[in-house]
Amino acid sequence: MTGNNKMGYSMLYFDEIDSTNEEAKRQADNGVADRLLIVAGHQTKGKGRRGRNWESPAGGNIFMSLLLRPDFAIESASMVTLVMALSVAQTIREVMQLPAFIKWPNDIVIEKKKVVGILTELHMKDACNWYLICGVGINVNQKEFPEELSQTATSLWLEQREDAGGSDIDSDRLTHKVMERFEENYALFGKRADMSDLMRAYNELLVNKDAAVKVLDPKGEFEGTALGINKLGELLVQKQDGSMENIYAGEVSVRGIYGYV
Ligand code: ATP
Repeated sequence: MTGNNKMGYSMLYFDEIDSTNEEAKRQADNGVADRLLIVAGHQTKGKGRRGRNWESPAGGNIFMSLLLRPDFAIESASMVTLVMALSVAQTIREVMQLPAFIKWPNDIVIEKKKVVGILTELHMKDACNWYLICGVGINVNQKEFPEELSQTATSLWLEQREDAGGSDIDSDRLTHKVMERFEENYALFGKRADMSDLMRAYNELLVNKDAAVKVLDPKGEFEGTALGINKLGELLVQKQDGSMENIYAGEVSVRGIYGYV
């Protein structure tokens, strides 16, 4: 299935694909222009950060990747992850009335369990010749998870409100709504190529806000209190000795002191 829509991105659908991020990269390398959305029914090699896996079974989940060729400076590229995270969290709240929160920088959690993962990859020939792929996996209708994920993962179906009736959730509609929100937020982001206009909304939905966190930085772990993001999308963490650290998303994960959140 291919299609165009009024929001100005084209879409390619695959029942099965290795990874929507990989397909978006192949399309980009074949010269496809800005704003192509790849959507798949399931992925055989779904990717997470740092070579990890994203569990991607068939059955009404969302696996999608958006190819972007921005005209802002490359330094702003990593913030697109935050723009997408905000858009997905807002959409889940609006469409499902569920308490979705953002776990900085790239995950969405409900009741402290991960329901969405986002993987943004930058492909660059040089500072003027680069593109971004923003991949999103949403556990929509998944009814159970493998043992190793059962404590940290959940789906919209498992979390849905009692009055929702228990039938399957329309993942096409949700995809469309996410893209609608993303287009709005991306336009706001694009005004200054930073989070100035989105920072407040992002911090309101930040699960780590004012919470004790453990920062898993490859250069050394530390603990502190997360205060929120700044306009560059960095997480501000106050250490126990009162000093402040601005954490850049790249290689870092953040955990609660006693668990995943
Ligand atoms: P973390 O979530 O540990 O802070 P991360 O944000 O770097 O790290 P991602 O790259 O977003 O993690 O996702 C990969 C990880 O998410 C995997 O290592 C696995 O623990 C978990 N995971 C994999 N598939 C799913 C899924 N469908 N739902 C929820 N969690 C998953």
